[in-house]
Amino acid sequence: MRVKCVLCDKICELDDQSALAKRLRNRPIHTFMCEDCSRRISERTRARWATGKFTLHLPQVLNKRKKKKGLNDIK
Ligand SMILES: [Zn+2]
Repeated sequence: MRVKCVLCDKICELDDQSALAKRLRNRPIHTFMCEDCSRRISERTRARWATGKFTLHLPQVLNKRKKKKGLNDIK
């Protein structure tokens, strides 16, 4: 199936049998991000994480637990 990247509008060909293709077919609300974009975003996220200014928005319960453990323990 052909999918369009939500960020750069690149058209990609997905294997119809792949888990990602199935998920996109069954739940059109899921958006597709091409490899380039997801790599770019994960790099920037890691870079921001490294600055220590990164704020992860988590559900309250998780947040409390992570505060106790210290943010640096979280992978
Ligand atoms: Zn893209």
